[in-house]
Amino acid sequence: MASMEKPVIMKGTEDGTMAKLGAIGPMVQRARDAQAEWASWSLEKRKSSLIRARDLLLERREDIADLISRETGKPSLEAVGTDILTSLVAADHSARSMRKLFATRQVRFENMGLMMWYMGRRSYVQSRPLGVIGIIVPWNYPLAIPFSQTVMALAAGNAVIVKPSPETPLTSMAMQRLFDDAGLPKPLVQTFMGGDDHGRALVASGVDRIVFTGSSEAGKQVMTLAAQRLTPVTLELGGKDPCVILEDADLERAAEGVAWGAFVNAGQTCTCVKRAYVHERVHDRFLELLRARVSALRLGAGEDADIGPLFNEAALRSMEEMVSEAVRDGGTVLAGGKRPEGLSGLFYEPTIIAGAPQSSRAVREEAFGPILTVNSFSSDDEAVRLANDSPYALSGSVWSRDIERARRIAERMSGGTVLVNNVSYTYGLPMTPWGGRGMSGFGRTHGAEGFAELMEPHHVHIDKGRFPREVWWHPYRMENMAGGSGLLDLLYGRSLVTRLRAMLKLRKVLKGR
Ligand code: NAD
Repeated sequence: MASMEKPVIMKGTEDGTMAKLGAIGPMVQRARDAQAEWASWSLEKRKSSLIRARDLLLERREDIADLISRETGKPSLEAVGTDILTSLVAADHSARSMRKLFATRQVRFENMGLMMWYMGRRSYVQSRPLGVIGIIVPWNYPLAIPFSQTVMALAAGNAVIVKPSPETPLTSMAMQRLFDDAGLPKPLVQTFMGGDDHGRALVASGVDRIVFTGSSEAGKQVMTLAAQRLTPVTLELGGKDPCVILEDADLERAAEGVAWGAFVNAGQTCTCVKRAYVHERVHDRFLELLRARVSALRLGAGEDADIGPLFNEAALRSMEEMVSEAVRDGGTVLAGGKRPEGLSGLFYEPTIIAGAPQSSRAVREEAFGPILTVNSFSSDDEAVRLANDSPYALSGSVWSRDIERARRIAERMSGGTVLVNNVSYTYGLPMTPWGGRGMSGFGRTHGAEGFAELMEPHHVHIDKGRFPREVWWHPYRMENMAGGSGLLDLLYGRSLVTRLRAMLKLRKVLKGR
């Protein structure tokens, strides 16, 4: 575990960040103290605290869903179905995983096994907590993302400092209260409330890992800053998810799924479907079905709405720009493409653009809003090529009644997660890994792979000291290593006789005779 050091002063760091560095240092120190106490608790006691946090969330679900809905504009059903449900499952999964996380693994020495046993040697590996994890999160899932990452970090034995989005302070405070009230040692979970400067200060603070979720541009800055003190980073960044609709797909289900996957959270989800590639034989029929679904979506606020507003005016303007560019590039707007009439606020109609070329910004760049492009393909190879032709690689989907064929395509598609006949929802299955590559970042949160990033493997090798010396210790004698009947013959000699002869000779050497 890294010891508490003075924060590194970085060239080019803004003044605001420097001021925040003063505040974060003591928080990291307090986190280290709380982590030491947490680590001293029994596994059972730690586990029941996480379960208590889960139960408190269940009790407070309506109030918290209401806060999420008010702060982000998403319909309250989405707040329950995505943020609350994901967090409950994550708490439960984390608590259940604890025993396995801390289990000791004996190392097998393969063809050296017998020799190592004779020499009285063994190796084992234990995973231990990294120490303090800095978690920086965006506004769009203000509970699901920080809560799931926090409970996993805690289950792995760490303390956590969360830097939430400045746009969702109330949800962040409600989350902090869940952990405070669950009876964890204080302050095992701390909230570092503020803007991007606070994020930079946390990255520079000397925590033991930064788990960053946000835009690709900010992710690059985080990596640059973290490199100053070699703080490891996990980067969960933007996406431009493709879906591939094969000609034998259940088109009704696919249209329904894509309408949800493209427009959930008003298209402001990293794994929203952004690019649909449809087999030419079913292209028109699929679009007909999709348009029917999309035209039935209700924009607004409250329980009756399917799609809420965009997050800010800038997002709204960027949708307008992207749509007009796509039209200039040759695309056709089949649905939406404008602010809705008679509805004030930051709403933008769910938009389908057909035929925009692969090179168009609408197809290449992340559009954090309700825009879906649709293009056709004529063969499986072409579908894979188009789907993979993107700087992003976070998630994707394939739709077909032929599961084997869909599976083969899914395995060839880039992206950390590819779903067959479903879309986007596996963030809500925190036992499965989450993450991407390229402009979508690297590393994983969730799943066994996510836990592994929150811990360090610690290898202990034990030699009972049965023999006074090693064949590779001084004074060097090449014949003991690589000469006839040396160590290499013992391990890899072609015949049993060669290996036995080497064993007898080396036994003498080891005994110092
Ligand atoms: P953002 O990058 O503007 O901000 C995210 C968080 O990072 C905020 O807390 C912000 O204050 C902080 N931050 C910004 N610049 C920073 C810096 N240089 N150093 C440290 N911290 C910094 O993102 P946003 O607009 O809040 O969220 C939308 C983005 O997040 C989209 O690109 C979306 O795809 C991505 N996202 C990714 C995932 C995923 O799992 N891959 C999930 C949700 C959202």
